[in-house]
Amino acid sequence: MLQILRNRKMFDVCIVGSGAGGGMAAKVLTEAGADVVMLEAGPMWDPVKDSYMFKWPYDTQRRGAATEKQHFGEFDAAFGGWTLEGEPYTTGSGSQFDWFRSRMLGGRTNHWGRISLRYGPDDFRRKTLDGLGDDWPITYDDMKPYYDAIDRLIGIFGTFENLPNDPDGVFLPAPQPRCYELLIKDASTRLGIPCVASRLSILTQPLNGRAKCHFCGQCGRGCATHSNFSSPSVLIPPAMATKRLTIVANAMAREVTVDEAGLASGVAYIDKNTNREHHVRARIVVLAASACESARILLNSKSGKFPHGLANSSGTVGKYLTDSTGLGVSGFIPQMMNSPAHNCDGVGGGHLFMPWWLDNRKLDFARGYHIEIGGGRRMPSAGFMGAIQNYHNYTPTDPASRPPAGAGYGKPLKDDYRRFYGSTVNFAGRGEMIPNTDSYMDIDPNLVDKWGIPVPRFHFKFSDHEINQARHMQETFRALIQQMGGVPTSPLPSRERDYGLATGGRIIHEVGVTRMGKDPSTSALNQHCQAHDMKNLFVADAGPFVSNPDKNCTWTILALSMRTSTYIAEQRKAGAI
Ligand SMILES: Cc1cc2nc3c(=O)[nH]c(=O)nc-3n(C[C@H](O)[C@H](O)[C@H](O)COP(=O)(O)OP(=O)(O)OC[C@H]3O[C@@H](n4cnc5c(N)ncnc54)[C@H](O)[C@@H]3O)c2cc1C
Ligand code: SF4
Repeated sequence: MLQILRNRKMFDVCIVGSGAGGGMAAKVLTEAGADVVMLEAGPMWDPVKDSYMFKWPYDTQRRGAATEKQHFGEFDAAFGGWTLEGEPYTTGSGSQFDWFRSRMLGGRTNHWGRISLRYGPDDFRRKTLDGLGDDWPITYDDMKPYYDAIDRLIGIFGTFENLPNDPDGVFLPAPQPRCYELLIKDASTRLGIPCVASRLSILTQPLNGRAKCHFCGQCGRGCATHSNFSSPSVLIPPAMATKRLTIVANAMAREVTVDEAGLASGVAYIDKNTNREHHVRARIVVLAASACESARILLNSKSGKFPHGLANSSGTVGKYLTDSTGLGVSGFIPQMMNSPAHNCDGVGGGHLFMPWWLDNRKLDFARGYHIEIGGGRRMPSAGFMGAIQNYHNYTPTDPASRPPAGAGYGKPLKDDYRRFYGSTVNFAGRGEMIPNTDSYMDIDPNLVDKWGIPVPRFHFKFSDHEINQARHMQETFRALIQQMGGVPTSPLPSRERDYGLATGGRIIHEVGVTRMGKDPSTSALNQHCQAHDMKNLFVADAGPFVSNPDKNCTWTILALSMRTSTYIAEQRKAGAI
């Protein structure tokens, strides 16, 4: 018989996951006096000791290339990717969905893109505005104090633009645009597309004891000087300083347990070091394992009293799954060829971006997208300027003056690198997907992971709104490249290929599978991200989101987790939970 090792200690709160949502919950709740245990499926990770920020590509034989375990390169601070050994997932018939997971303290915040955009007032009430999807049970005004608080706590740079649905925050000064960014801005201005300073959670001034960024541009490797946001840099240390946080690393949560009164009593987990099952007791459970993992835990928490899992009397756990829409187009810009060596240093990310600028009433799709830009002469790494032989095809030079075929060695090759390095730009769209009934996750009845835990099964389909939006992205990015005097380096994909729209999950902004709402028959959680069915059970990741605006989701995960955790602290103080 399976022996479960039961921890006798009763914690005030058990948090599952240590990323954006879990880290914030741990900080707020420990500082409010709660005795917290945090279960984290991955190992501990310390950016100061463990980051590869100061490594050169030539420090390893691979030159930093991707590995099976690190999909963004061997220096990247992600222990994980779209596939994890022993942790499969499946897709329903005809569906494609790729599920990204990072198993480590801090989760995906160690290597995320740090694009930190607030949702705007319209984003919380889309159904009211265009009849599609649903409204959130809260408004921008409910969220604003928490957005302001995380801006001050974490630090974010930007400029004050007074855009109606892209609210300004409490900004640090923005870095100056790079050379290629100025050329892009010039082109976008001519096309009537606004191009403004990015809003990234990177310090351009010292803040709360953390050093300002020294512009190494290697944020994805984890910042050893704590100058960008990650949970282990900003949230875990203050929680640890209270001495009220116990972190159990390599602890894979399986289910939330329930007592006789029908309340959450703790969490059962597998110790990955020993493969033994443990149980930790807590008065309150906060799931922050990332949206789909938290929904998986709820669906797997079945009992006689809750045969469909927890927080699921409405049957909505797993429903309303969305990811951001996304695709990219690169362009070769002849005027940037043969450019003299110049400084392209800066933060790890673009210094400019283009917020959504059009009126959907004049378009054949609902909702918008923003544009992230890239290019320049950054530190080269494995695979940089791949297929360099093709660059000659893009140039307007007379074919007779091109190097002969096969000149891909020695001096001609070096000359090509010097000639073409820094002469491409790229545009990536990130847009809003509207929840639909074909996109959801459930539990695969036939497959378990290596610890015997049933795995998720994803069903996913884009509607014409997203596909038409993708066509608009393609046309816009190509128009920008042409406006710069350049040529796109790939042909426009066909309608049959959804105009190049990335597979669901590839943009890594999956949200909505435990959505919040006023009506317990159509939502899993109430406006405090508290289960309608169970007052001591909360979700603090992107699961509660009612929609998935074009702004990347993490700044709202952080603000919402702070709001949820503040509510929990108040309820504890009032003796209500
Ligand atoms: C390359 C990349 C770039 C990105 N760029 C941006 C960006 O620019 N802007 C933006 O807003 N977002 C971005 N994101 C998305 C962002 O990283 C996520 O939205 C955010 O980290 C989600 O926070 P979370 O707390 O919900 O989950 P995570 O950060 O994934 O943390 C979840 C934690 O829970 C742990 N866990 C999972 N399951 C269990 C379990 N069963 N038991 C115990 N622990 C468990 C995991 O190990 C992990 O540590 C990016 C992501 C990636 C990968
Ligand atoms: S660019 Fe700045 S924030 Fe990013 S890793 Fe380097 S020093 Fe840290």
